[in-house]
Amino acid sequence: MFVSDCLGVNSLGHLTIGGRDTVELAQTYGTPLYVMDENEIRRACESYRESINKYYSGRGLVTYASKAFCCKAVCKVAMEEQLGLDVVSIGELYTAQSVGFPAERIFFHGNNKTVQELQAAIEYGVGQIVVDNLTELELLNQLAVSQGKMAKILFRIKPGIDAHTHDFVRTGQIDSKFGFALETGEAMQAVKEAAGMKGVHLLGMHCHIGSQIFDIEPFEHAAEVMISFMADVKAETGLELEMLDLGGGFGIKYLPEHDPVAYDQYMQRVSETVKKACAARSFKTPFIVIEPGRSIAGPAGITLYTVGAIKEIPNVRTYVSIDGGMGDNPRYALYKSEYEALVANKASQPKTHTVTIAGKCCESGDLIGENMPLQDVRVGDIIAVLATGAYNYSMASNYNRIPKPPVVMLKDGEARVVVKRETLEDIVRNDML
Ligand SMILES: *Cc1c(COP(=O)(O)O)cnc(C)c1O
Repeated sequence: MFVSDCLGVNSLGHLTIGGRDTVELAQTYGTPLYVMDENEIRRACESYRESINKYYSGRGLVTYASKAFCCKAVCKVAMEEQLGLDVVSIGELYTAQSVGFPAERIFFHGNNKTVQELQAAIEYGVGQIVVDNLTELELLNQLAVSQGKMAKILFRIKPGIDAHTHDFVRTGQIDSKFGFALETGEAMQAVKEAAGMKGVHLLGMHCHIGSQIFDIEPFEHAAEVMISFMADVKAETGLELEMLDLGGGFGIKYLPEHDPVAYDQYMQRVSETVKKACAARSFKTPFIVIEPGRSIAGPAGITLYTVGAIKEIPNVRTYVSIDGGMGDNPRYALYKSEYEALVANKASQPKTHTVTIAGKCCESGDLIGENMPLQDVRVGDIIAVLATGAYNYSMASNYNRIPKPPVVMLKDGEARVVVKRETLEDIVRNDML
C-alpha cells in the first residue's frame, strides 16, 4: 500500500512506521522529526548480503555508502550487519572511527581528498582508498612513504555509461569530475605509475555510474567494461587485479508508480555478466563490492511536519506550509525530486486534494513538492513525507538559522533518539564577537 514495507495504518487511521503511531511520535518528540526504522535498514542489508551469497558464492562485500545517512547509530548498524562502509570525507571517516568501524572494511572515496584526509585514512589503516586522479595518487604515495606505510588502493574509473538518470546524479560518463577515463588511456597510465610506487598497493578497480537507477542494463554494461579493462591491465602489465567495486545507485520507490528491481535480480544478472566476461578473457573472477546507499537508508525513513498556514490562491494553487522544508530536505529544490506525502492523522482517508507543500525558508523554491495529492488538510495536521531516509538528514543545512531536526530510530517498535534536536545554543556555537 505504501512506498516502504515499514509503513502502515492503525485503527485510529494514523500512519505507522515500524508499528509505531506517527502522530504519537510527533507529539512526543516534536516536529519537524526524522523517524527511521532500524529493522527496515537491517532487512535491506540482509537481502543484499544474501544475494551475494546466492549468486556469487559469497565472494563479495556489501558496502553501505554512508553519505546517504551518516550518524553513529547507522554506522553501528552497518558494522553489526557485517557491511563495509563508504566514506567521502574526514567527517564521515571520523564518525566511522567513533563507533570502531573496522578499517579494513572502509572505502574512502572523493575526487579531491585533502592532505589531512589522506593522512587520517593512512593512519586509521583504511582498507581501500579509492584514488580518483594522478595528483591524488602521487600525493598519497608520498604521504604513505613518509609514514612508512603501504596504502591499499582502488582506482575510480569512468566506464562511459549513460545510466538514463538525472544529469546531476550521473557520474559514469566521460564529462564527469570523478575518476580516470578509459578512452584516453589515462587509466592505464595510472596503473603503470602505481605499479612503480612504494607507498601504494593497487587492489582493483571501482566505478559508480549514477544514482536512483531502475534498469539493470547499465550495471551489466559497466561490469563488462570494467572486467575488460582489468583483463587489459593483466595483458599489458601482468598485474592481476582481484577486486572489482561496482558502486551503488540502485533506485528506490519514492512514488507509488515507481517499480525498483529486487536486489536479488540485480545481483543475479550482474554476477552472470561478471562470470561470462571473465571467462571470455580467461580472467580470474574478482572479489566484488557493491555500494548501496539510498536503497539501504531511504525506504527506512520518513519526515514528520506540522501544518501551519494554508494559502489557497484561486485558480492558481494551494500552498500548505510546514514547519520544515529545504533545510531538512533540499532534494526538491536541488533536483525536483518527487516524494509521496500524506496527512499522518488522516492516513486512511482518500487523497482528495492537490497541494504544493512549502517550507518556511525565505526562498520561493523551498518546496517539498508541487501538485501533490493529499487528504483534506487543516492547520495543525501532521504531514508525513515518505522514503526520506537517504539524502535528507545528510544534506540538511542551517539555512535561515533553523535548527536541524532530531532523528528517532525505532527498533522492534522501541524508539530512541539517535541524533538530538539542535538547540538555539547550537546555532550560535561557533560564532565569535
Ligand atoms: C553516492 C555513492 C554511492 C551510493 O549511491 P546510492 O545511489 O545512494 O546507492 C556509492 N558509491 C559511490 C562512490 C558514491 O559516490
